[in-house]
Amino acid sequence: MPFPPKKAALILIGHGSTVNPDSSTPTLQHADAIRERGLFAEVHCAFWKEEPSMREVFYAVKSDTVYVVPNFISEGYFCQQVLPRELRLSGPITQRENKTVYYCDPVGIHPSMTKLLLHRADEVAQNVPRNQTTLIIVGHGTSLNENSRKAIQDQVKLISEGGYGFAEVLDAYMEEAPFVAKWHEMASAPNVVVVPFFIADGLHSFQDIPVLLGIESEITAAASQMDVFRENPHVMHGKKLYYSSAVGTDDLMPEVILDQVKDFDQKHGIQPTEPSSSDPISPLPSSPFTIGQIQVTPKDGKWLLHHLEDKGQEGFLAIDMTPVAARKIAMMDAAGNFRAIKTAPTLKRGWLLVLNTEAQLRLALDFFYPAALGFWDHHQNGTLQPVHLRETLGRQTGMYRFANTIKDEQAQQMVACECDAKTKCLRRITWQLAETQPLTVLTAEKLPPTAPTPTEIPLLCVEACTHLVSSAREISKSNFSAASVAKD
Ligand code: SF4
Repeated sequence: MPFPPKKAALILIGHGSTVNPDSSTPTLQHADAIRERGLFAEVHCAFWKEEPSMREVFYAVKSDTVYVVPNFISEGYFCQQVLPRELRLSGPITQRENKTVYYCDPVGIHPSMTKLLLHRADEVAQNVPRNQTTLIIVGHGTSLNENSRKAIQDQVKLISEGGYGFAEVLDAYMEEAPFVAKWHEMASAPNVVVVPFFIADGLHSFQDIPVLLGIESEITAAASQMDVFRENPHVMHGKKLYYSSAVGTDDLMPEVILDQVKDFDQKHGIQPTEPSSSDPISPLPSSPFTIGQIQVTPKDGKWLLHHLEDKGQEGFLAIDMTPVAARKIAMMDAAGNFRAIKTAPTLKRGWLLVLNTEAQLRLALDFFYPAALGFWDHHQNGTLQPVHLRETLGRQTGMYRFANTIKDEQAQQMVACECDAKTKCLRRITWQLAETQPLTVLTAEKLPPTAPTPTEIPLLCVEACTHLVSSAREISKSNFSAASVAKD
């Protein structure tokens, strides 16, 4: 059945990375594909390790009905604890302020992942007879990922019993038996197709598993730094080995995301075309304005964007006409380093974006500075809800659970250093150390404006980001080490 258009927002949640774009890229691309089909009033992404965070993304959402789909491979710690906590969800359906939030199952457990696995296998092993092929689906393994093991075993069963014609279908893992490194002992067919059951071509599927398979002798560069995926087949141990990229990077993945929404509607009795309204959109300045390091100029019904320092050089800049170009520009700095913090003062120069509509402009600005227009809107309407640092650190779990043991003085110094406007981040901080403890270290450029700024949309920080939480954890850890050394 075709997917009916919805007057609702879709938020895809990904893990993200502070090291390279490989983790977030598939989530962003699937969102692009769904957005282009016009199936939702708005489509957003949010990440654990990148911007916008799961707390921030709601400032960008206008619709009062919101579907959240975790772009994760399995249920487990993230989907059952971290995501509901960060998204402030109380169950599958949450009423929050004026919004209804529907929390769908993660994509990886949907039965339609089967067709993606088959698609991946057929792509890398074209014209290889299935009845002479062992298909191995690979996951991470270890007790921390029990649910991912179950998702893989479910797929092994579905494909083995579904009459797809493979000689055999097996599961294997990086860190527990059956080990993927023993693939040649496990597989009895002359051809072996290995499909990593991961969302992205990150460290595990692109760099670790090829070493375990013996395709590479040592860890290679990340996927984003390689021009082509690996050549197939690899003739090894008397067999032909075909290795595919991660299942989550498949072009069919947007269909699985939509299937999760459809299943959610069915399970909870929600009408596919349920009406929904949305918050009004505040107008953008009608004359030239700046946002972060960008100059925006309305001209002849279009919008021109360039780096502030490229003023007067518009004739010499590389021109692009699509909002998605903004995301590519914002991804790396001039030296080719991944810009994990999009509000870092490191936006590269030498480009000119010409956009035809205000909708395109808003999308491009959201790619440059995720959720920034939403923060500004809420700030002006008095509905921004800053979260103080102690509260952000206090709700952390897992490896970050000690972050809140950082001392007050250390926290003040950390903010001064890690949030410095000249070297680290252009956002103006709206939160305090705690309800009754202001931050005493902020320079004027880090404070939110107190008067209207008609020619500037300021970048605002509504709560400490993942980088600051990580720093707090490191400092807290060093306190523990120093204390135990003193005790010894
Ligand atoms: S916590 Fe600091 S570095 Fe992180 S987004 Fe806010 S101002 Fe920027």
